[in-house]
Amino acid sequence: MSNIKIKPWISSLPEYIPGGTIEEIKEKYNLKKVYKLASNENIFGPSPKIIEYFKKGMSDINYYPDSYCRQLRKKLSKKLGISGDSIIFGNGTDQIIEMVCDAILDTGKNVIVPDPTFLTYEKSALKNGAKVIKVPLLEYRQDIKSIIKSIDNDTAIIFLTSPHNPTGSILTKQEIDYALNNINNDILIVLDEAYVEFVPENDRFDSLNYIRKHDNLIIMRTFSKVFGIAGLRIGYGIGDSELISNISKIMQPFVVNSIAQIAAVISLEDEDNINRNVKIIISERYKFCRRLKESGIPFVQSFSNFVLIKTGGRTPEIIEELLKNGYMIRDGNFLGFPDYIRVSMSLPEINKKFTDLFIALYKKYALNLSEELS
Ligand SMILES: *Cc1c(COP(=O)(O)O)cnc(C)c1O
Repeated sequence: MSNIKIKPWISSLPEYIPGGTIEEIKEKYNLKKVYKLASNENIFGPSPKIIEYFKKGMSDINYYPDSYCRQLRKKLSKKLGISGDSIIFGNGTDQIIEMVCDAILDTGKNVIVPDPTFLTYEKSALKNGAKVIKVPLLEYRQDIKSIIKSIDNDTAIIFLTSPHNPTGSILTKQEIDYALNNINNDILIVLDEAYVEFVPENDRFDSLNYIRKHDNLIIMRTFSKVFGIAGLRIGYGIGDSELISNISKIMQPFVVNSIAQIAAVISLEDEDNINRNVKIIISERYKFCRRLKESGIPFVQSFSNFVLIKTGGRTPEIIEELLKNGYMIRDGNFLGFPDYIRVSMSLPEINKKFTDLFIALYKKYALNLSEELS
C-alpha cells in the first residue's frame, strides 16, 4: 500500500466500468464473430473517404498538430453558421466537459445533473471537489422544473442532454426555453447533443440559435457517434466566444491530434454518407421498437441510435446468453438502470438476427414483465 496521499475527493471518485472489448469476448466465449451493440458507436464506420485519404499515407505525423484546428474550425463554423471563435475542440466531448468543470468548479460549488445520466458530468465535477445534486428523471425524461427547484447559491453548472443517454428521450424547445428563462445567467447550462443528428426533423429545434441570445449556454457535440470516428477522440463545444476563450486557457495545446482533425474535416464534407447512415439507423430503430412492442417487451421511446429496454430480474442470464451468441449490449446496471439493457442499433441484417434471439430470450426469462413504458 503506497503512502502517497491522494486528495480524498479523488480517491472516492466513481469508477467507469467499460463494457468488454470485442477481442475479449471473442476469446472468452470462443467466438469468431462478435457484434458490439453496447456503446452507441456508428456501426457503418467512418466515411470511406477517410480510409481513402489515409491509405495515401500519414507523412505529417512527425509534426505536432495545429493546436487551433484552423482548417476544421473554418469548415465547422461555416457549416453551423457560427463564428469560429465560439468553438472549442477537445480529445472527445468528454474532455471538453472536463475542461468546463476544471475552469469553473471548486470545493464550494455544486452542479446539477439528471439522474441517471452520462457519468462524465458527475466525475468531472467530483474531481474538482464540487458537489453533485442529482435530480431523478420523471418517466424517463429530464425534469426541468425539479432541476430548477434544486438550484441553490452554490450552483455553478447544470448538465442537460438531448437526446438523453441512456434513455434516448429528448428535451422539447419549450423545456429549453423554460430552462433558459428561469435559470440565472451566472449559472452555466451545458446542453450535450452527442446524438442530435438522430432526432427526426420534426422533433428538433435550432439549438445553436440560443447561443446568440444566451451567454451562459454551451452546446456539446461529437464526432464519435454519427460521424463514426470514436476511436480518434474528437468532439467540440459551442458557446459565447469570451467564455470559450477563457475555458480554452486551461487546455493543453495538442490534445486534438492531426489525424482526428483531418478525419473530422473529411466527415463534414461527406454529408451524403452521414445522411444515408442516419436514415438507416432511424429506420432500424423504428423496426426494432415495433418488434419489441408486438412482443409486449417494455422499452423507452428513443430519439437516438440506441434503445433502453426493461428486461427484469433475470437480466444477467439474458446478457450471458446474448454474449454466448456473440452480441454485446450494455448492462443497465452500469447506467443507473438495473434490470434494463441498452442496445445500440446496428446493420439491418445484424439487428434482425439480434431481435429474433433477444425476443426468444426475453420470452424464456422475462415474460412476466408486461407493463408498458412511456
Ligand atoms: C458518447 C457521448 C458523448 C461523446 O463522447 P466523446 O468523448 O466525444 O466520445 C458525449 N455525451 C454523451 C451523453 C454521450 O453518450
